[in-house]
Amino acid sequence: MTHSYDAPVSQTLFDRAAVVTPGGVNSPVRAFRAVGGTPRFMVSGTGPYLTDADGREYVDLVCSWGPMILGHSHPQVIQAVQDAVARGLSFGTPGAGEVELAEEIVRRIEPVEQVRLVSSGTEATMSAIRLARGFTGRPKVIKFAGCYHGHVDALLAAAGSGVATFGLPDTPGVTGAQAGDTIVLPYNDIEAVRAAFAAHEGQIACVITEASPGNMGVVPPLPGFNQGLKDLCTENGALYISDEVMTGFRVSKAGWYGIDGVRPDLMTFGKVMGGGFPAAAFGGRADVMAHLAPAGPVYQAGTLSGNPIATAAGVTQLRLLDDAAYEKVDAVSAELRGLVSEALTKEGVAHRVQVAGNMFSVFFSDEDVTDYEKAKAQESFRFTPFFHSMLSQGVYLPPSAFESWFVSTAHDTQAVERIAAALPAAARAAAEATA
Ligand code: PLP
Repeated sequence: MTHSYDAPVSQTLFDRAAVVTPGGVNSPVRAFRAVGGTPRFMVSGTGPYLTDADGREYVDLVCSWGPMILGHSHPQVIQAVQDAVARGLSFGTPGAGEVELAEEIVRRIEPVEQVRLVSSGTEATMSAIRLARGFTGRPKVIKFAGCYHGHVDALLAAAGSGVATFGLPDTPGVTGAQAGDTIVLPYNDIEAVRAAFAAHEGQIACVITEASPGNMGVVPPLPGFNQGLKDLCTENGALYISDEVMTGFRVSKAGWYGIDGVRPDLMTFGKVMGGGFPAAAFGGRADVMAHLAPAGPVYQAGTLSGNPIATAAGVTQLRLLDDAAYEKVDAVSAELRGLVSEALTKEGVAHRVQVAGNMFSVFFSDEDVTDYEKAKAQESFRFTPFFHSMLSQGVYLPPSAFESWFVSTAHDTQAVERIAAALPAAARAAAEATA
């Protein structure tokens, strides 16, 4: 398909990138493969706006996939980073910034008694699973179809057609041995979890779930689902791991835990806690964390873990995220949800705007989406023209129908007005789309 305007400088950069980098990108979704067209190479960000290499400005509804909850280039975060840079970049020793960030996390999230800092969400979930296996002495892990926990080998398994229980590798390079201890179940199906515990008695180390999934679009847990998982884990001597890499410090001061109050044994974090830098963490019960090296036998380490620049950015961002900040993000999210729904309704486009705290996404579907199968059944062909219409009008959406939209405290009236002005044409494009 053709797109309403081109981006010559981004295209030149993309062509150069494709020579030296597989697919021209360092993380697949950035390549626009789901929507087609030229990925925009961004050169700067201020508040709610991004500017691309062609000099075009966009209202950003991706926010670096979640981290930039204060908007881009927040002056206090930039200042903290500049101060930290002036003191040195990495020491390979313990530092005060790590203690401050860990204390901030423990203070906010009551079930986290101890925390270990790492550099990516993938590392956090990988390490949490290793710890759960080391702690319980059991091999198997339950995960849910449509939940993404980073590119951990064992967690890239999702249920392929006809595979009801055992995980099959989703990608070449992950062996059956690596995925064979992963049990993939349909999301929001507590009976399937009960049955899996019964079928694999004494074998299941943990259940890992997105606290409220945002990686198949926003599909919140049905009432009682997370509590049901926790109860089944407790009854069966397994650990309940809540992956809050996306929701943590975003949907409330205490993430999704602050909303549903279900107490995990272990939790994982990333994105917002790094303030835009590579910082992530896993933590939880002190008796479980005590099994981690050097306190205990389960090995885990990182040259740049707790990097002083990353921790300075993260601590500063977290300290700025007070009740008023979350109220602001929630309000902007609610306003945008209303505007999107209004525009689509006006054009007669069947849709659901699904929400988890201030995260939301649009499904082109006439029924509520509660699992991955329903998410995949939406009319995603409508998303491509919708996306490109918004892009051509200066609104940057996630380039996939299966991603959450993210807003920030910096999304002010002017930014919302720009989005509102773009929506009618985009909704029309979605209405006119054909499969
Ligand atoms: N867990 C969840 C819920 C995520 O959304 C992501 C990334 O989007 C990850 C884990 C992996 O984090 P990272 O991309 O930092 O490795």
